[in-house]
Amino acid sequence: MAELRDLSAYHDVWVFAEQREKKLMPVGIELLGEGRKLADAAGCRLCAVICGSDIDDIINELFEYGAEVVYYAQDKRLDQYTTDGYSKVIGDAIDKYKPEIVLLGATHIGRDLGPCLAVNCNTGLTADCTKLEIDPETKQIMQTRPAFGGNLMATIICPEHRPQMSTVRPGVMEKPSKQPGRKGDLIKLDINLADSDIRTKVLEVVKTAKEAVSLTDAEIIVSGGMGLGNAEGFKLLKQLADKLNATVAASRAAVDAGWIDHAYQVGQTGTTVKPKIYFACGISGAIQHIAGMQNSGLIIAINTNEDAPIFDIADIGITGDLYKVIPAIIEELG
Ligand SMILES: Cc1cc2nc3c(=O)[nH]c(=O)nc-3n(C[C@H](O)[C@H](O)[C@H](O)COP(=O)(O)OP(=O)(O)OC[C@H]3O[C@@H](n4cnc5c(N)ncnc54)[C@H](O)[C@@H]3O)c2cc1C
Repeated sequence: MAELRDLSAYHDVWVFAEQREKKLMPVGIELLGEGRKLADAAGCRLCAVICGSDIDDIINELFEYGAEVVYYAQDKRLDQYTTDGYSKVIGDAIDKYKPEIVLLGATHIGRDLGPCLAVNCNTGLTADCTKLEIDPETKQIMQTRPAFGGNLMATIICPEHRPQMSTVRPGVMEKPSKQPGRKGDLIKLDINLADSDIRTKVLEVVKTAKEAVSLTDAEIIVSGGMGLGNAEGFKLLKQLADKLNATVAASRAAVDAGWIDHAYQVGQTGTTVKPKIYFACGISGAIQHIAGMQNSGLIIAINTNEDAPIFDIADIGITGDLYKVIPAIIEELG
């Protein structure tokens, strides 16, 4: 068994600030909002850690979003994410500065980096959390995540090892407001990296030419499911979406049917969204779908089946054929 650590040596909440092409990923901002609450509850500082090159603008942004301390590593070799480069530099920083809690976004980068860091530090990691809280008595972090296909919410603790690590679902936590001009302490990290340490060589990053879908930023979402009956149905949803300056989305069943790309999928295995208004059109309201949209401001459901579970969480429920109801709404909007 691994030797138990002196837990009192560990302090502060760290947020991994993920950058791509020198832009801070939105989940990094969300984590600063959540990290602030945890740091206040635990009575410690909120810190961010970032790797890359020419990242001064992002460092300023991190302070403006609430980081008290920014640990940074500037090196051309850290411009692009690599498992080896990032886990070595951040792993060394964790050994040296001993954070109590480390949060990463559950993006494909965070989901790759988190487990590597946790194994290297011989500590616990909870993946894809949707809720984090500090236990007022023990000051440990209680990490809640959906398990068994969303049928069970598991709350997991890491009592004897540090740091306590979590990856957190993008789109779940609230973004803090920006405080322009806010500053904090800047700490440069040691970079003990030999070129040979980085075994992955990125030859090219290929982006899909598809229209960028940003469900997490959408204020209004018009989402369709199997009730559309066919792919053509999304054209009707698009007409409504255009009227409302909204974004179209879908259930997994509609994605699996090949009617729309996975990038549009809302739910447990898709994107978690929190728009002001969510239209659920021909969506039954399976738990895995609801998991991704239940925190929307106003939920409007249109469904032919008055017993559909979606009506249990809808603020406005319309029992009817979406092919009649939606054109009527469009007409009403003028
Ligand atoms: C591990 C796992 C992960 C999953 N992840 C996700 C996920 O991320 N997102 C997700 O959405 N699902 C997910 N699912 C699938 C989920 O369980 C459901 O199968 C899916 O959400 C159902 O999609 P739906 O509501 O479009 O289709 P259905 O359940 O078939 O519902 C269609 C609805 O349309 C209504 N309807 C029919 N005709 C009309 C009409 N003309 N007008 C109005 N209403 C009409 C029907 O009454 C019905 O309620 C997951 C499942 C598993 C096991």
